[in-house]
Amino acid sequence: MRHFCTSPIPKALLGLVLLGLMGSCAPTSGSSASKVHLVPGTEAQAAAPPPAQVETPSFPLPDGTPLPRLDDLGPEFRAPLPPSPVWNPPGAKRVGLQAGHWRLEETPPELARLAEGTSVEGWDEWEVNLRLAQHTAALLEAAGIVVDVFPAAPPVRYRAHAVVAIHADGNFAEGLRGYKVARSAISSVPRADDLLVERLTEAYGAATGLPRDDATIGESMTAYYAFDPRRFQHAIDVGVPAVILEAGYLTSDEDRALLTSQPEVAARGIADGIRAFLSLDLGPRAGGQP
Ligand SMILES: [Zn+2]
Repeated sequence: MRHFCTSPIPKALLGLVLLGLMGSCAPTSGSSASKVHLVPGTEAQAAAPPPAQVETPSFPLPDGTPLPRLDDLGPEFRAPLPPSPVWNPPGAKRVGLQAGHWRLEETPPELARLAEGTSVEGWDEWEVNLRLAQHTAALLEAAGIVVDVFPAAPPVRYRAHAVVAIHADGNFAEGLRGYKVARSAISSVPRADDLLVERLTEAYGAATGLPRDDATIGESMTAYYAFDPRRFQHAIDVGVPAVILEAGYLTSDEDRALLTSQPEVAARGIADGIRAFLSLDLGPRAGGQP
């Protein structure tokens, strides 16, 4: 569940950090996945437009230099992003699914402090996340939705009608189990994000029967790096509804059995939640005709 190495970086070291000399907790990964960085769907992808490109950046693009951790940055980095219309152009719906921790070894310097996920009983979290993402993608594509499955480093300023970052939790000490969904605390589209949280929470619980674990929602979710285009180039753009799902605990025998033996069940919950969200009237839209 932890998405950044938490080694503190004294302000005095900021200069060194900005020179790119930090890297003591650069992650390693056991990923043996293919070289494909952005994994398009299959049938629906063939007839779909290319991935959404940024014509005019809606927020200044960071320069890609590694930054200190959030706690060592000024309060301006915790302020909400500028409010934005929801990116909701007409035409085919597009959904981004991030397989958390996947392809960490290929992350750019700005994301060098990303942490590996949980590993339990021979399962690495990235692998569980990727399988959930792929099963979810197949279900969405069957419904005519264009899907991008992407790794720990999102495409620069990624845009879609909805984004779900998929993770699995780990907690050896307290025997926790269950799932939770959260949005960014600095969201530019909090109302849309809340609707996506609500729909995904409801559908995932209905499909999986897992208990909710909202009590442990913390900054690893609400300050999720991939939802912060102010700090990172490789982030979801302003205006794009995006949430993070912790799909269950790999450290729980019951949760792990579901996530690893029945990924299609969990994927059904994710896909149902996304489709319920996409069916909503989100009001004025950006990215297309008004
Ligand atoms: Zn994770």
